[in-house]
Amino acid sequence: MRARLAVVVVGLWASLDAAVGGESIISGEPMQGGLVHGRVSPGAQVWYEGRKLRVSQRGQFVIGFGRNEAPITKLDIRYPGGSREQRQLNVAQREYDIQRIDGLPPRKVEPTAKDLVRIRQEAALIKTARRRDSADTDFLLGFTWPVVGQISGVYGSQRVLNGKPRRPHYGVDVAARAGTPVRAPASGVVSLVHRDMYFTGGTIIIDHGHGLSSVFSHLSEVHVRERQRVARAETIAKVGATGRATGPHLHWGVNWFERRLDPQLMAGPMPTAAKQNSR
Ligand SMILES: [Zn+2]
Repeated sequence: MRARLAVVVVGLWASLDAAVGGESIISGEPMQGGLVHGRVSPGAQVWYEGRKLRVSQRGQFVIGFGRNEAPITKLDIRYPGGSREQRQLNVAQREYDIQRIDGLPPRKVEPTAKDLVRIRQEAALIKTARRRDSADTDFLLGFTWPVVGQISGVYGSQRVLNGKPRRPHYGVDVAARAGTPVRAPASGVVSLVHRDMYFTGGTIIIDHGHGLSSVFSHLSEVHVRERQRVARAETIAKVGATGRATGPHLHWGVNWFERRLDPQLMAGPMPTAAKQNSR
C-alpha cells in the first residue's frame, strides 16, 4: 500500500503555472528574492524543503526565496484526512549586478580581530530576531516604501568595497536626507533595536509574522522600543549614515527567516515625491 501511494504521489507533482494544483492555491510568481502566498484548507500541514511552515487558522502561509534559490523547489501538503499533495515550484532565476563602492573607512571593510568579536555578537542578535515565527499575519496586507527617494543600491548586487570583493547586498538602499522619517512598511512587532551596530549602525528589525521581518539600517534616531507593536506608515526612526555608509540613506532588508528577500519586489514601483508628501 505504501509503495503504491508513493507512486501516486510522484505523479502528482504539478507545475505551478496552473496556479492551482490539487487543493492548494499559490499566488505570486516564485522568483529568487521574491515571495509567494499560499492557501490550503485549514488544518493542513505544509512542508517546504524539509521545514514545516506555519499555517494560519484560515489556511494561509508564505514562502520566501533566497538570492540563489534553486530553479525547482518542492512543497508537500498533508491534509487532515491523510491525503497528500505535492507541488513543484519553478523559481525564476535572476542575474545580479556588480556594485563598486569606494571611500569607506578601511576598518569597516577589513575589521580588526577585536571588531570581529563585536561583529559576531551583533550578528547573533540579528539571527535570533530573524528566527521568530510568530502567528501574526501583518504581512498579508503587503508592503509600502519606508522612505521615498532615489534607489541607490539594489538587492543581490555583488559588492566590491574599496576594491575588495565582499558579500552581496541583501536589501535596497534609498538615498534620503539625514533626519528623513522612516515609516513602517507594514505593521508588526519590533523584535530588535540597536543604537550602533558595527556594520548597520542604528538598526531596527520588525517582525511581520510567519518568519517575515524587515531590517532598517544606518538610522540616526530610533523612535521605537523592542516588543512595541507598530502600524504601517508609523514613523519608527530617522534616516542617517551610521555604521558602514558613505552618506545618509536607508537600507531596508526583508527576510523570510534566514533567507534574504528583495524588498523592491514587495513594495513595487517607488512612488513620486508628491505622493509621499500627501501621505
Ligand atoms: Zn544597503
